[in-house]
Amino acid sequence: MPILTLESTCDETAAAVIADDGAVLGQCIATQESLHERFGGVVPEVAARAHLERLLPVIDTAITQAGVTADDLTAIAVADRPGLAGSLLVGVVAAKTLAVAWQKPLVSINHLHAHLYACQMASGQSVYPAIGLVVSGGHTSLYHCTSPLDLEYLGGTIDDAAGEAFDKVGAMLGLGFPGGPAVSRLAGEGNPKAHAYPRSMIGESGYRFSFSGLKTAVRYTISPPPAKEVSADHLDRQAKADICASFQAAVVDVLVRKSVRAIKQYRAGHLIVGGGVAANPALRDRLREASEKHAFRLVIAPPELCTDNAAMGAIALEKIKRGEFAGLDLDITAGLQRGF
Ligand code: ATP
Ligand code: MG
Ligand code: FE
Repeated sequence: MPILTLESTCDETAAAVIADDGAVLGQCIATQESLHERFGGVVPEVAARAHLERLLPVIDTAITQAGVTADDLTAIAVADRPGLAGSLLVGVVAAKTLAVAWQKPLVSINHLHAHLYACQMASGQSVYPAIGLVVSGGHTSLYHCTSPLDLEYLGGTIDDAAGEAFDKVGAMLGLGFPGGPAVSRLAGEGNPKAHAYPRSMIGESGYRFSFSGLKTAVRYTISPPPAKEVSADHLDRQAKADICASFQAAVVDVLVRKSVRAIKQYRAGHLIVGGGVAANPALRDRLREASEKHAFRLVIAPPELCTDNAAMGAIALEKIKRGEFAGLDLDITAGLQRGF
């Protein structure tokens, strides 16, 4: 019997219907990129209002595509953490309302654990024990995972997330929003050695990351001090491509080095990688090389499961197996703390 999963943590409104064997029977994702583009970033209030308008049609589409009715569903699952408060609230209130109206049990989903679960979904066999790397718009975190639901947080970014840095570099270069995919594409035409950007904390023994110094270094390449405003208008395509490639190489170097160190320290057989930045081809290539060199198994979420979606909400099935249901007092936990 299938479950319904809802995702509204940031700026994608998504729903999926998932069979108890994990097969995705139907799903719908409404992205808000065009709404936030003119602001150059996600505006929380705009995001929450858009979720409100879109969530019910998105649920309808997923259910229709799956060819099921409300009667067929065995549970309603929703991402309740971490994310933007207003965005999370829309999903959680909708899930609670449907749970009451349709008399279904409620299941809560940790959005970051779901990003990693996308790897288990894509793999034919168990990927645990594993080191999990979440690289997304809001997080850059390493976990030691002994099961889909048992994750020990090893460390994460102390300032910007990797995806956030990609987006900010894209914005400084005038590449639109979100900048990640555009920076990644243009990097393919550039020289990764053109600029020697910092690999912050790469030699530190722990698992902390920092990308804000790198972002500032990029800013100074584009508009050196004392310029107060950043403008890339004077740069041609090749100059921009060189900046993108050099920036991307710095991010990838740090992510790969720290992941490999964690794999060795915890003797985990697998490295699992999820979140929007896991769609980055350079990161995927470098991780593949590292997995061959250091003999560990690598599972990266397939590109369509990297950015936000409700299919990875299949992690709710693992909670149902354990009998872990949420009450109607389920509340949101926004993204104000680290270490989810
Ligand atoms: P979080 O999961 O931390 O709450 P989020 O849900 O907003 O944040 P995701 O949807 O997982 O983040 O990922 C979006 C991020 O991924 C954006 O920052 C985007 O620029 C980045 N991204 C997407 N594709 C690529 C790519 N090819 N290269 C680099 N970054 C990318
Ligand atoms: Mg998004
Ligand atoms: Fe996400």
